[in-house]
Amino acid sequence: MYPLLEVRLVRPLILEKDSIIMSKDETLLYCSNCQKKVNWHVKPVNHSRHLIIAICTLGMWLPAWLGLSLLKLKYCDHCESTLSGD
Ligand SMILES: [Zn+2]
Repeated sequence: MYPLLEVRLVRPLILEKDSIIMSKDETLLYCSNCQKKVNWHVKPVNHSRHLIIAICTLGMWLPAWLGLSLLKLKYCDHCESTLSGD
């Protein structure tokens, strides 16, 4: 009965899907260890391990924990070494 209203409701979902596809960055990065362009991945931060270290160091590990959580280091799919550049 109201086709225009239907389109407006469906559209945001489609746009959201597109942005997810676009944000999936599949560009290759040069790995100095493999000496070629490689696929890479971002490792999830092991928060439970960082919590234990933070407790052991009486909170002195907290800045490092925060830094590692924000940095999102890229790792080579082949040799697991960190990749520099963007
Ligand atoms: Zn590599």
